[in-house]
Amino acid sequence: MDEDSTRAGTGMEGSDVDWAALEAAAVDAMKNAYAPYSKFAVGAAALTADGRMVSGCNVENASYGLTLCAECTLVGNLHMTGGGLLRAFYCVDAAGTILMPCGRCRQLLYEFRAPDMELMTAQGIKTMDQMLPDAFGPQHLEEPR
Ligand SMILES: [Zn+2]
Repeated sequence: MDEDSTRAGTGMEGSDVDWAALEAAAVDAMKNAYAPYSKFAVGAAALTADGRMVSGCNVENASYGLTLCAECTLVGNLHMTGGGLLRAFYCVDAAGTILMPCGRCRQLLYEFRAPDMELMTAQGIKTMDQMLPDAFGPQHLEEPR
């Protein structure tokens, strides 16, 4: 697959995010995946609101159900490197194909989203609100009961 065909119709026009750099970082992160059970390596990378790049990979364990998705280690990386919010997100499998975050990880990413956060999807760039509409979030814990 050439560069043009992978970019066709991704709706990246006008974005100030270097999506190619995010993709490369996600692929690099994927190479660190620990996935001996599923054999399904995943890497994720994100640009923070203050311009840093953070990444993560999936980390399985023998109990399967306690597997950490790449988004989990990415958010750990976010906090280990200064915290902050996520501006843009990209996730790939072992073949470099774009992956959508699972339900749990959409909630995780929602918690740490910058107001204008964008996510690369197979259908192009989407906002966090498109990925997790009507989300429950920290704002609901602040409302008076
Ligand atoms: Zn997940």
